[in-house]
Amino acid sequence: SIRTRFAPSPTGMFHVGGARSALFNWALAQQQPEGRMVLRIEDTDAARNRPEWTEGIIRALAWLGIGEDDPHFEGPYFQSAYADKHREAAQELYKNGRAYYCDCTREQLEARRDNPNLGYDGFCRDRGLEAGPGRALRFRVPDGGPTVVDDRIRGRVEFAHSAIEDFVIARADGSPLFVLANVVDDVEMGITQVVRGEEHLSNTPKQQLLWEALGHTPPVWAHLPVIVNEQRKKLSKRRDKVALESYQEEGYLAEAMVNYLMLLGWGPGDDREIMPWSEMVPLFRIEDVNSSSAFFDEKKLRAFNGEYIRALGVDEFVERCAPWVTGEDTPWAAADFDPEVFRAVAPLAQSRVAVLSEIVPNVDFLFLAEPVEDEKSWAKAMKPGVGEEMLAASLERFADPSLEWNAEALKTATEETGAGLGLKLGKAQAPVRVAVTGRTVGLPLFESLELLGRERVLARLGAALE
Ligand code: GLU
Repeated sequence: SIRTRFAPSPTGMFHVGGARSALFNWALAQQQPEGRMVLRIEDTDAARNRPEWTEGIIRALAWLGIGEDDPHFEGPYFQSAYADKHREAAQELYKNGRAYYCDCTREQLEARRDNPNLGYDGFCRDRGLEAGPGRALRFRVPDGGPTVVDDRIRGRVEFAHSAIEDFVIARADGSPLFVLANVVDDVEMGITQVVRGEEHLSNTPKQQLLWEALGHTPPVWAHLPVIVNEQRKKLSKRRDKVALESYQEEGYLAEAMVNYLMLLGWGPGDDREIMPWSEMVPLFRIEDVNSSSAFFDEKKLRAFNGEYIRALGVDEFVERCAPWVTGEDTPWAAADFDPEVFRAVAPLAQSRVAVLSEIVPNVDFLFLAEPVEDEKSWAKAMKPGVGEEMLAASLERFADPSLEWNAEALKTATEETGAGLGLKLGKAQAPVRVAVTGRTVGLPLFESLELLGRERVLARLGAALE
């Protein structure tokens, strides 16, 4: 059975590119009853690792639906726990003559070479050095022939051995390098398929040589294309919004995110784009992943998310909004939030938000003691000569107890009031909207007025006229 793995280094916020790698591996694991995806945290770079990054990875994966409550999941394992295995493997390679000790310093190497970028020149290959201070262990790359990496996405990639230096597998202090630790763990964990980012492709011939030198059949390799931004530049954490968590915080739904990330380089082969995870899994084939770079199109992601939001049942939508409308960070006082009013307004808002955080500006007029203040909106809606007139006339009309307080009656009343001032409905409702909600755009106005209630509408119109 297939055994894939996701092997992140906890050195920063969990990146959307990492999420895509994890999902592709996860889909492969879920395709087979006994298929497994191992989560291995590559935490050997003590200087750059932080426990909160590890927690962030585990939390983010769980959000995407990847975690220990699923039988296809195994782990998390921590690379640091396998240090002995890494050292043993290094020694095994030394004993078999596949690796040798080297005491060359960088200065010596540079002095011998015109171009230090050419890599190690093999000076210590046949000196028969034993372990000792200042001596690193280098892998002896075989002389003849190339190593051919049979990549499921890129096809056959040949690496001439003459272009691969005898690379270091363990430092002078005995600590193994990533290139070795990563292989040893994959061997130990019985990994049959490696799916990872393209930036690792240059490691792959070295790692394939290590697999073979350790007496194992290398896994199937697949290197995923880079993800680029609008300028066709590789997504970077300095330039782009890459942290999965920031999407979660903005109110992207996990299922929309999963759907979108799966399409970064892959597609089901027909025109379908919106499709649930359960339908993508059986169709996913690593061979179908495109080898050219994948454009991370935030606008498209937003559109996807909007579709997913509109597809939710209203109660589900209300529940998903909870983190934004209740809790610490809301702009209104907790006591002023009314779940029944929110439930009533939710269907109006649901079709208008693309990300859940947008619920707040749509409904805040219902829960804030006063509408938000924004001079620009105010200036835009309150045209001289009509704005105040419209508010004053509406105040009078709305105060009339014979006016029924429902959206339909309020609309008719506003139409009539506007007509009295020579205004079409659109122009007539603008000042009312800004006085009552503080904004120039928002939910359908008359439903909003109905929900807010006569008393508060009158108070706000009055306050606006002061
Ligand atoms: N720990 C490596 C990284 O985060 C991944 C190595 C691999 O997938 O083989 O880039």
